Amino acid sequence: MPTRPLISTASPAPETDAPTTGNSPLPPPESAPAELAWRLDIAVQTPAHAALGDLLSYAGTAPLVPGTLVRVPLGRREVLGVVWNEATSLAGVQAEPDMALKPVGAALDALAPLGEAWRDLVAFAARYYQRSIGEIALASLPPQLRDLTTTQLARRLKRKTTTGPVAQTAEAANLIALSTEQTAALARIEAESGTFLLVGSTGSGKTEVYLRCVADLLARDPEAQALVMVPEINLTPQLEARFKARFGDEAVVSLHSGMTHPQRLASWLAAHSGAARIVLGTRMAVFASIPGLKLIVVDEEHDPSYKQQEGARYSARDLAVWRGQREGAKVILGSATPSLESWHQSRPAEGDDPGGRYVRLEMPSRIGAGELPAVRLVDMNLQPPKTVLSGALLEAIGQRIARGEQSMIFLNRRGYAPVLACGDCGWKSECTHCSAYRVFHKIDRTLRCHHCGFTERVPRACPACGNPDIAPVGRGTERLEEHLAELFADVKRPDGSAVRIARIDADSTKKQGALESQLAAVHAGEVDVLVGTQMIAKGHDFRRITLVAAVNPDGALFSSDFRAPERLFSLLMQSAGRAGRDAAYLAAQGATAQMWIQTFHSQHPLFMALRKHDYAAFARQQLDERQAAAMPPFAFQALLRADAREQAVAQAFLNIAADAAEALPGADIVTRYPAVPLSIQRVADVERAQMLIESPSRAALQRLLASWQPLLHALRRTPEGKGVIRWLVDVDPHSI
Ligand code: ADP
Ligand code: ZN
Ligand code: ZN
Repeated sequence: MPTRPLISTASPAPETDAPTTGNSPLPPPESAPAELAWRLDIAVQTPAHAALGDLLSYAGTAPLVPGTLVRVPLGRREVLGVVWNEATSLAGVQAEPDMALKPVGAALDALAPLGEAWRDLVAFAARYYQRSIGEIALASLPPQLRDLTTTQLARRLKRKTTTGPVAQTAEAANLIALSTEQTAALARIEAESGTFLLVGSTGSGKTEVYLRCVADLLARDPEAQALVMVPEINLTPQLEARFKARFGDEAVVSLHSGMTHPQRLASWLAAHSGAARIVLGTRMAVFASIPGLKLIVVDEEHDPSYKQQEGARYSARDLAVWRGQREGAKVILGSATPSLESWHQSRPAEGDDPGGRYVRLEMPSRIGAGELPAVRLVDMNLQPPKTVLSGALLEAIGQRIARGEQSMIFLNRRGYAPVLACGDCGWKSECTHCSAYRVFHKIDRTLRCHHCGFTERVPRACPACGNPDIAPVGRGTERLEEHLAELFADVKRPDGSAVRIARIDADSTKKQGALESQLAAVHAGEVDVLVGTQMIAKGHDFRRITLVAAVNPDGALFSSDFRAPERLFSLLMQSAGRAGRDAAYLAAQGATAQMWIQTFHSQHPLFMALRKHDYAAFARQQLDERQAAAMPPFAFQALLRADAREQAVAQAFLNIAADAAEALPGADIVTRYPAVPLSIQRVADVERAQMLIESPSRAALQRLLASWQPLLHALRRTPEGKGVIRWLVDVDPHSI
């Protein structure tokens, strides 16, 4: 069968609703088939590690513009691809018959080609995170683009018309007066360029600063677009509402994985066409095509959710900074507790040190909110053994219930108890597939592994010795909720009704819409005591909470992960930020906001800094430690990970890989540590090992990784690599 050119760029496919044959192109006219005169390099999604190289070459009848979306044959399928480079002429090139390039399929030319800036971003991310261009490019496009025919797409495009200049909405007309700190921050963002780190307490009015920056930009430049990112899907509705109230519904679109495919396509198209002036989204939004991009906001920039934890392990925050630089867009990173990387990068010049590249802007005061809560540390060493909630804390919560105020108790462990154990023979509820315990969930009487999902009914008696008295050890949110309900059973609310305890965690919010309704109940004052995991610590603007307690935060103080204290500090600061958010309410109640912390280490410097809400002191202490130990941000890291049925096989792969790296450029200033098991060594019957790679030079690390990649692919095919199920490189890993 002769291969034929399928469709040219010049004219779009004739519109027809005739028998749809999926994406298969229309038959070309019988007469004078155009010549396949052009070679096109196309990014397609190849299976991970297929080692096909970055781009695949096809032949086309026309020199399609880079950025054009096309369908191309791959194996026995037809897939979506992106024309990546300028076409090269095949005129005069004699190809071997079996080397002949396959022809490209239909071009989705109703769509403007993806811009050069976007392609640069994708290429950079692929290079930096050691993945293929095709993988990143295709993963960042809305899934529906892969499935629509050219005709369907053309129809979809017609539906959406561009919005005009953004009209000021009613709310914008009576704007609140900015505080001095907000005014100062805005003035500097206005006057300077580059990346800004906006360090503002919870409730200092950071979001208002973002809104004003966006408003100024859109008013000044009728083509400009802004990208605003938040760490979690849960936080998008809130933010979306605020932006829509300010700029109108038409101007704002959202992009996150909780949307349906048609919604995502519609948002993506609106961003790509420039119709959406403001794109709100989670980390995936950093890859949106936004041709008029002039401003990027990364809210809660320290949040670990910005780091993708599978596939291409990119940091959306870091890419946002890169993208801003590439496109000349200002970048605002906002947080009450910035990542130590960003904080360090925004240090002022001092002595020989020229300072960091970011502009640091500080807004320490809370607006419209009360003072930051007073922090009370409860020394658990002084409590009777096995105390869950200290007497003083219980009393404080009880008083609040009686006054109709709300309390929030934070425990970062879901389920009823982390382990079920037999007191007679020492049996514990280990997962048979993982090196971890299965968690006891009392609600449905199951033992569930939080790593592999393995779930069983709780046994009636100890599976090892038959003892019927197997008991929960430790405490999760479910058990804490039960405990609180018992403790406060007799306490009445002001109207005489019974206390209401609620729990919000990954288990309570599984059903669609559950989180929204649970949050609404809290906002409506239907809940007196809210128990939850870090889900409740983030972002929510609760108005009636006057007490927040963290009941068991010590674990992170002595974790093997050097970032654990940083994460704990920001989580506790954020939790504290949930209390006393409404100064008027506090005044009316005659109440003060409090943050309680129960700890066995009340003298720990982390808690000392927290007591004063002194992020700077905490950061200084941590950065000193990191500098002394030559750890990030004073060094750059990557992890090489390998999974296998046996730990020894995984480790051997890593060690051989390390030996192979010896001769590579950059190897002399890149340290390769011995392979070790992950802290949870086995998950779903797979043994996991990793090797830390570290260098004071980011460039050297990058150089080494780039030349290592082909060796790793090759090693995988040797006898030593045969037993390896998968391997991956994690650049700038978050947890070690
Ligand atoms: P952050 O994002 O720093 O937590 P927000 O921007 O959400 O803070 O502001 C907290 C609250 O204060 C919001 O209810 C907001 O409407 C209000 N607010 C912000 N700026 C001002 C201001 N200049 N005057 C009065 N209220 C303000
Ligand atoms: Zn037993
Ligand atoms: Zn398991």
